[in-house]
Amino acid sequence: MITIEQHKLVDTDGKIKISFQETPNVSGPFNAGLPDTIIIHYTAGSSLTSSAKWLQNPAANASAHLVLGKTGEIIQLAPFNVRTWHAGRSTWKGRSGLNQYSIGIEIDNAGPLTQTPEGYLTHFGKKVENKDVVLAKHKFDSSERGWEAYTPQQLQVVEEICQALKAAYGIKEILGHDDIAPSRKRDPGPAFPLESLQGRVMFGRNEDLPDEPDDEALIDAAVVFADNLNIRSNPSTNASMVSNPLSKGTKVRILKSQGGWSYVKADIEGWVSNQWLRNV
Ligand SMILES: [Zn+2]
Repeated sequence: MITIEQHKLVDTDGKIKISFQETPNVSGPFNAGLPDTIIIHYTAGSSLTSSAKWLQNPAANASAHLVLGKTGEIIQLAPFNVRTWHAGRSTWKGRSGLNQYSIGIEIDNAGPLTQTPEGYLTHFGKKVENKDVVLAKHKFDSSERGWEAYTPQQLQVVEEICQALKAAYGIKEILGHDDIAPSRKRDPGPAFPLESLQGRVMFGRNEDLPDEPDDEALIDAAVVFADNLNIRSNPSTNASMVSNPLSKGTKVRILKSQGGWSYVKADIEGWVSNQWLRNV
């Protein structure tokens, strides 16, 4: 589990490689009550190492708190109580200069790709396999193009980092660089699932549950304790019955739940009201 000690990331399980390489490209400490925002970026660079090195170079005139590699490895460039230089000219909800308010997380990712007869290429000329290309339209663009996919490890680790930052600093919002500098920036781009990340970290929403009850991992055993439990085609008392009611003591498997209803499997499958189920 990722936590924060002395304004630095620590993985209590020791599974994620975290190193601290201090950048000189910082301003002083945040004002009281800050940071309260996280800004997500892609590096548009060719590797974790090269991007982290560049952000430690005074000539870059840029930095961030974290750089996240494709394997989930993390390089921290500054403690979270000082301001780094990742946002540039930026505005959001009446604030300007978001470096004063935010933690910057750079993710090793090439960003937009160019389609060629040989396949998709990064801006630095590296070929990206089709399986690592996301075809999508940026919210500010009019047409679709290829973007380098973020790795599952990056998406998992960035979420853990955001959870840890929220717990430590009371983060209220996670934004893309493109949100705060829309005329200049396209990162983290449409390949990054910012809305679902924001939903899970800020609101505890899980939008990744499958729509169909086909995930064995969700199965949970329960028993009916109403004398007769209606089993319906949809999670509503107005929905039609799919069979005779389930009788008391019937064992069911819960395949998914929503809004006080569970989709269960017995001899047949359908929706029942949660209040008449007991977990076993
Ligand atoms: Zn950026």
